[in-house]
Amino acid sequence: VTHCPTGALSARDDKEQLFAYDAPIADPDKVVVVSIAPAVRTAWAEESGLPREAATPGKLVAALRQMGFQYVFDTNYAADLTIMEEGSEFLERLSHKEDFDYPLFTSCCPGWVRFLKSQYPELTTCLSTAKSPQQMQGTIIKTYFAKVAGIQPENIYHVSIMPCMAKKAEADIPTINDSGAGKDVDLVLTTRELIRQCRSMNIDFSSLEEEEFDSPLGTGTGAGVIFGATGGVMEAALRSCYYLVTGKNADADAFKEIRGMDGWRESSIDINNTTIKTAVVNGLGNARKLIEALLKGEVQYDFVEVMACPGGCVGGGGQPIHLDEEETEDRREYLYSLDQNAPLRFSHENPEIQKTYEDFLEKPLSHLAHELLHTDHTAWTVPGTKKIKPE
Ligand code: SF4
Repeated sequence: VTHCPTGALSARDDKEQLFAYDAPIADPDKVVVVSIAPAVRTAWAEESGLPREAATPGKLVAALRQMGFQYVFDTNYAADLTIMEEGSEFLERLSHKEDFDYPLFTSCCPGWVRFLKSQYPELTTCLSTAKSPQQMQGTIIKTYFAKVAGIQPENIYHVSIMPCMAKKAEADIPTINDSGAGKDVDLVLTTRELIRQCRSMNIDFSSLEEEEFDSPLGTGTGAGVIFGATGGVMEAALRSCYYLVTGKNADADAFKEIRGMDGWRESSIDINNTTIKTAVVNGLGNARKLIEALLKGEVQYDFVEVMACPGGCVGGGGQPIHLDEEETEDRREYLYSLDQNAPLRFSHENPEIQKTYEDFLEKPLSHLAHELLHTDHTAWTVPGTKKIKPE
């Protein structure tokens, strides 16, 4: 446990649950797998002691194999899957506004979900039912991957490395596990815990060769990687919504007006002669202002992205701590440079996502996709708040 200098605050440290001598990673009956969130790679690069251009995701993969993980996956895969489900859900709500609560709020940030459910519970049904990338990744690993690899789902121990403290609580939500094999995400470690573990194992990053992620669940697109920055989920969703509506791709940078660091940003996007009004918010103070304005009827939107942390997950509570905002800005730019240079920049073009639908899920919002990849936010209550009863 890490304490602040006065001992008033402490950060939870769960590494021992995995790396103690009798922990899962030393258990021959367990297949221990790990997934890395988009924003982790950029902050890890800062702490690796290597120049940023040398601290590649491929070296991080090699470091994780050296730690003993048998499969190393990329949560960017599930970010792309989230876009397919959430983008399809948005288009469904857009064309049947009268049947749904409106606008659609993104739901991939557990800090925001908890804030909304505790402060404005009457708006809970505006949240997208699509699970976050962390939880989709967990469910797919213990269902589809287990089947493909011929492993009993209950023998898989899945570790998720996140920029976020709130993801630990998200993995514990009782109604979020759909694989039927215990928790879909068994353990969440933050970027800081990962870095401390690398140091305690004396991993020499400079001598590591690049290694590939395992497949399936190892391929992500540029759209998936920008999930780590404020506005990234919205931009990635619009890229695929445009394709789903028109049957062709817009320019990958067509929606770049959504990017930025301002706390509350608005855009009007035209797709096939339909204007979509979007808002992107980071920081919960800004989220409260936006909701109050929505409730007073001062603003109207179709689709709203909210990230609790300033700058989005790049500035998450599990990332290395710096006292200035510039680091967040640098991390955001790094993720956009990965997107710019990615061979694929649209979630719907991810070949592993296409194969997952072909072989397993059938199509976005299919019966099985609903069962495994969506969740009922009204089915659990934030402790100390009233039970939510949807109309
Ligand atoms: Fe977690 Fe912050 Fe990212 Fe929300 S914005 S998912 S609280 S790191």
